[in-house]
Amino acid sequence: MNVLFVTSECYPLVKTGGLADVTGALPLALAALAVDARVLLPAYPGVREQLASSKNGATIADLFGGEATLVDGTTATGLKVTLIDAPHLYDRTGGGIYAGPNGHDWPDNHLRFAALSWVAAEIAGGRLGKWRPDVVHVHDWHAALTAAYIQFDTHKKRLRATRAATLLTIHNLAFQGLFPESTLAELRLPDEALEQGGIAYWGKLSFLKAGVRWCDAVSTVSPTYAREIVTPEHGMGFDSALKDRAEPIVGIANGIDLAVWNPATDSNIVATYSKPTSAAKAPNKVALQAELGLEPDANAPLFCVVSRLTEQKGLDLLLAALPHLLARGAQLAVLGTGDRKLEKGFRRAAKKHPGRVAAVIDYNEAMSHRMQAGADAIIVPSRFEPCGLTQLYGLRYGTLPVVAKVGGLADTVDDGLTGFQFEPVDQDQLTAAIDTACDAFATPVVWQRMMRAAMKQDVGWGSAAREYRALYERLLQARR
Ligand code: ADP
Repeated sequence: MNVLFVTSECYPLVKTGGLADVTGALPLALAALAVDARVLLPAYPGVREQLASSKNGATIADLFGGEATLVDGTTATGLKVTLIDAPHLYDRTGGGIYAGPNGHDWPDNHLRFAALSWVAAEIAGGRLGKWRPDVVHVHDWHAALTAAYIQFDTHKKRLRATRAATLLTIHNLAFQGLFPESTLAELRLPDEALEQGGIAYWGKLSFLKAGVRWCDAVSTVSPTYAREIVTPEHGMGFDSALKDRAEPIVGIANGIDLAVWNPATDSNIVATYSKPTSAAKAPNKVALQAELGLEPDANAPLFCVVSRLTEQKGLDLLLAALPHLLARGAQLAVLGTGDRKLEKGFRRAAKKHPGRVAAVIDYNEAMSHRMQAGADAIIVPSRFEPCGLTQLYGLRYGTLPVVAKVGGLADTVDDGLTGFQFEPVDQDQLTAAIDTACDAFATPVVWQRMMRAAMKQDVGWGSAAREYRALYERLLQARR
């Protein structure tokens, strides 16, 4: 079975969040199940150079305003990728993959990601090279317009005869790909696309809605989030569109890459370990405290955060709960970037409490491993969380998660057994959970028992990959 992953990011080539971790690891887990998975993504600067091997493939004379070449290659880990080399869309200096140096989204993002989707539809139609997918698996809004290009394909007859099954996975419903309706013509879609429950969305058009509307199935990254997003409270304006689908939204919790996140072999950390004990982790705690200028205090529970600093992640609640955390003799280490106000808040807290609070306002992959290895616990107080990955890394590293009981956090952490959950998501309940964690830390037999349970939990991709393969098979069956 051939599956084309369509995504805007993919670890280790380019990553801003959990989406990249999933699209970098799941295809490899599927390959172990005899699925030939290939990842299609833009050739941002520096991406091709990371491939172990690559060769030019098909060319496209006019991909939304310029020439493009497809590059087929393989990463050092064996991931098969196809890059879209389109300098007019992706070759930008300064800024990141979504926004320019001023922090504002690139003004042509609608074209940059329409192009990604358009190429996916062309590959699905067999018009770009020999390899053809049985299933096109699109991820988030950047890739969701693929479903519209397949739906309104100008070569429709040919395509319909051989059309691949399509699956949209929503990694975060907050990102909907909203643009003015007036961009429709630039996207090379007919007016029809806006009609009859098409991609119109409260006076705008939404890329994500194309996937919800026209993909054969829609999934999301945990069972609880799948239930939450069909409610008005968590549906972010999409609940009706999601509920209107004939089949319920499928929820499959993410796994993690057990090779990349393995405390027994991790080359980013000072001392590798496999024993589920604080003693085994201790050299990493000492090193992290030294690196961050925290007091070298083995008895202080060290909480960490590795996160985008945004409203979603609930870290304003942690700032509010900080005096209590410190009163319990604990330390806090934060690694993250995002909203200026939160960045400032954590910087200020670090200045006010030297030796007890450290804030690294940066994106640093290697340091995120050192945080997981060195801290005793990781705090994830998200207001909503489709799946969340840092709590899974925490489980794997024996760094007990303190999490809000929402979405994938509710599904992956077992309160009192492998971590600590709280609800509702407010300052008081977070404070209470931190208290419970401090109490447990002060009772070594309890903490060690929880560490054992956490590190024993199966957080790999195995079972999720099997669920995805079964879902692909169901979709193909339905086509026959
Ligand atoms: P989201 O995708 O909403 O950002 P997830 O928990 O699903 O949240 O995934 C976040 C990923 O990004 C994890 O791999 C996490 O370790 C990583 N990450 C987030 N912030 C940073 C940072 N400042 N430095 C390094 N890694 C980070």
